[in-house]
Amino acid sequence: MVCKHCLSKPVIYFPINSTQLCKSCFFRYLESKVKKTISKYKLIEPKDHIVVAISGGKDSLTTLSFINKIANKQRTIKITAVLIDEGISNYRSKTIVDAKKFCKKNKITLKVYSFKKEFGFTLDQMIIKLKMKPCTICGVLRRYLLNTKSQLLNANKLATGHNLEDESQSVIMNQFRNNVEISARMGPITGVIINKKFIRRIKPLYLCTEKEIGLFAFLNGFISGYHECPYAEQSYRQDVKDMLNNFDEKYPGTKYSIIQSFLEILPLLKNKYKSNIRLKYCISCGEPTSKEECQACQLIKKLK
Ligand code: SF4
Ligand SMILES: [Zn+2]
Ligand SMILES: [Zn+2]
Repeated sequence: MVCKHCLSKPVIYFPINSTQLCKSCFFRYLESKVKKTISKYKLIEPKDHIVVAISGGKDSLTTLSFINKIANKQRTIKITAVLIDEGISNYRSKTIVDAKKFCKKNKITLKVYSFKKEFGFTLDQMIIKLKMKPCTICGVLRRYLLNTKSQLLNANKLATGHNLEDESQSVIMNQFRNNVEISARMGPITGVIINKKFIRRIKPLYLCTEKEIGLFAFLNGFISGYHECPYAEQSYRQDVKDMLNNFDEKYPGTKYSIIQSFLEILPLLKNKYKSNIRLKYCISCGEPTSKEECQACQLIKKLK
């Protein structure tokens, strides 16, 4: 088989419609898909200061490459890359190398914040001290740092590398756990309310698959290898991921259908839960929270 557009040698096969694309047609296809997502959901506007959360992996560097391309054309848009070093031995140090290399090459300001410096312990140490699941601690503290550091940098948006697979997993996880209210905060641009303390999250790769992003990052030389967090296997997400992968292999397009149907009901969910929100501020740090004290401050106290 050959590329469906130009008859050149293909680099990717799409089982959903049994077609293939060559390298240059694939690059055009992916860029156009990302641009359509950005414009349809108004993810980027003139004068935005966007913090791009990067880990040095394929998703975040691909996100940064597309946003950087836009910022280079529209000079009123400012970007800053932020990397959170959780302190996961034999993993994060490898991806940091790729992140630094990418930012240096593209002349992008990179800020690195670590759990060790900000909270006194690495994630590896916290797991032993708190006897909690790694992803629970990591998720809470990383979200907290990204939100507070984005405010510190005077950014108004926070871009992440979440893709179609991450989002379809989150939708199913929330269904399985009866957490529909959390789903209401998701989507290509997050948040049901506008609040200065909540930096809105944008996900330009929302409709891109892992396979597409991995190939794009590899063909562009963004990453030196495939590194996976050693704690990923212990997570509930991993079980949902395996289940969806098996299902999608048998019934191609399943993840895409989950996202399309989710996008259709999302405005209804946002509308429903908008009126439910009574925003409080954490008694310890002043960040928005649904309880008296935010989850991050509760964890930080337990660490002391
Ligand atoms: S897999 Fe879990 S512990 Fe590892 S980086 Fe992701 S959230 Fe953190
Ligand atoms: Zn082609
Ligand atoms: Zn707090």
